[in-house]
Amino acid sequence: MRRNIVAGNWKMNLSLVQATKLVSEIINFEIPDKVDVILACPFPYLMSVNELIGKKENVFVAAQNCHYEESGAFTGEVSVNMLKSIGINCVVVGHSERRTLNNESDEMVKTKIDLLLAAEMEVIFCCGEPLEIREAKGQNGYVSQQLVDSLFHLSGEKLKNIIIAYEPIWAIGTGLTASPEQAQEMHLFLRTLLTEKYSSETASKVSILYGGSVNARNAQQLFSKPDVDGGLVGGASLESESFSQIIASF
Ligand code: PEP
Repeated sequence: MRRNIVAGNWKMNLSLVQATKLVSEIINFEIPDKVDVILACPFPYLMSVNELIGKKENVFVAAQNCHYEESGAFTGEVSVNMLKSIGINCVVVGHSERRTLNNESDEMVKTKIDLLLAAEMEVIFCCGEPLEIREAKGQNGYVSQQLVDSLFHLSGEKLKNIIIAYEPIWAIGTGLTASPEQAQEMHLFLRTLLTEKYSSETASKVSILYGGSVNARNAQQLFSKPDVDGGLVGGASLESESFSQIIASF
């Protein structure tokens, strides 16, 4: 069946010394057999973190972004092939901070996904609605459009390399968490969309993570929901104690 995943998104945090200490602690965690841990690190740390993880089973590294062009005059950007060439096999795309702060469109997200899948890499695809859409009860339409625009051109075969992270924007870094029922409702809606577009077999294999102020206190209830296959964790992934408790919540 599908994988349970706890992914840590460090964003633009931690020095190399702090990152090294955190990873050294994470590789000594007792990670339940059924759980994969993914560490989405800043670009400068990817190689060191990958090396530190070594052959530790169930722990993987991911980049937080990539560019939508293959190469060229894009000062300061990082391409899919650069990431691939240093041994990175997973990238987060469409995080709401990039959509909002860097004006990333669904079209750019789609292009990044195509490049990543062509390079046989895995994608953590982030989607989620802003507060005003939730307040107007428009979240299902909003999020389904994000899937239609960036994912639904893919074949069922390609979809196997996609992890979906549902992250309501109003819950990211705010301390406001979607209730386990709200998370389950959206995850079930997304899985139903996947079933309608592909098949129930394909839909049942896609891991759908919840993100938005996940912490050691709320993880267990969120992860107990049948369509919540884990979490994309920001703030609480920067500290080994809270991150280990979240991982142990399955
Ligand atoms: C995130 O960065 O994707 C996130 C969900 O952050 P936080 O857990 O801090 O809300």
